Amino acid sequence: MREPVTAPVMVQPGKIELQTFPFPDPETGAVVIKREMCGICGTDKHSYSGQAVQYSGTDHERTLPFPIIPGHEVVGTIAAIGKHPDGLTDFNGHPLEEGSRVVLGANLVCGHCYYCRYGFDYYYCANLQDYGNSLSAANPPHLFGGFADYVYALPGSYLFKVPDDLPPEIAVLTEVMAVTSGLDKAKQFSAVDNEGFRFGDTVVVQGVGPLGVCHVMKARMLGAGNIVAIDRSAVRLGLALELGADVALNIRQTSAKDRLEAVRDLTNGRGADVVVECAGIPEVVPEGLDMLRAGGYYIESGNFADMGSVPLHPHLICAKNLRIIGIGGEAITAYGPALEAFRRYRRHYPLHKFVSHRYPVHEAEAALRFSMTDDSMKVVIASPEYL
Ligand SMILES: [Zn+2]
Ligand SMILES: [Zn+2]
Repeated sequence: MREPVTAPVMVQPGKIELQTFPFPDPETGAVVIKREMCGICGTDKHSYSGQAVQYSGTDHERTLPFPIIPGHEVVGTIAAIGKHPDGLTDFNGHPLEEGSRVVLGANLVCGHCYYCRYGFDYYYCANLQDYGNSLSAANPPHLFGGFADYVYALPGSYLFKVPDDLPPEIAVLTEVMAVTSGLDKAKQFSAVDNEGFRFGDTVVVQGVGPLGVCHVMKARMLGAGNIVAIDRSAVRLGLALELGADVALNIRQTSAKDRLEAVRDLTNGRGADVVVECAGIPEVVPEGLDMLRAGGYYIESGNFADMGSVPLHPHLICAKNLRIIGIGGEAITAYGPALEAFRRYRRHYPLHKFVSHRYPVHEAEAALRFSMTDDSMKVVIASPEYL
């Protein structure tokens, strides 16, 4: 018998209790992952703050099934494996065994709904399950979130082998980096003349928390020209500058008019080619649309939780021929390339600074609260050897 597993359980919004669960015996095709690190995501903060409805307005709208173990940004080693007759492999076909280091794909799709059959991204799936979100800790084997010391990955989960030389504080960013697929999408449109995100384009990122900073890095890697970061936190803006931004605009020191002028000054008066919303605040959307040049692309990836509505000016969208792209999550095909990009670019980017604070499992609630402050970048729950 292995030791019981310690897990922080969100029994309701605003309340986390430490509980223990039996060490699970994995079924065929399942694995148990000993968590090295788990990132705290905006989604976890929303759950804690009581924004418990996800995908509202879609046919898979759901309310979080408390109690839940939060956390879906997991890197760790395989501690137990449910034997599979053909052997278990990761997403890229690499064999997996006990001791393999992996990143866990955050989501499970059904494979048989319209969107799955037609190859849409996971967040279209009508029967979607997400670690740390939709799987209740009330149901055995309980350990469906990365805040726990061990995570149960159900059969059909996507696993990604981590390059040996990539430390957990970088591998833990894989899922966030994978959500930058909105920029890849905008890039794909550039196959058509004068569309999409083109080489040398000016990119504005509204909100440079972890998701925004990953967009800054990705925009740089994909050939952006000027990159403008907007935030209210000097700490976050500082890191954005180190990770690829050229200009930082602090909303505490500038007005909306100042920011609009700054973006126009950089672009001969035209406005930005691409604006990415990563603030998760509805009120920033009209400002972002104002900043775009005619025909510019607005990528909406920050308002994952339903934070309410805001008046928009449809005439502006029409008159400026704006393109608005909603991105509800990461592409599963973006995990492997994200890991590879981290391995390649860690020489050029100070990626080791990205994880700003590490907390042990029994301080998960303090970690969540701290992650909501302006002085944090990526806050993680870490096992004792990585504190
Ligand atoms: Zn996340
Ligand atoms: Zn499906």
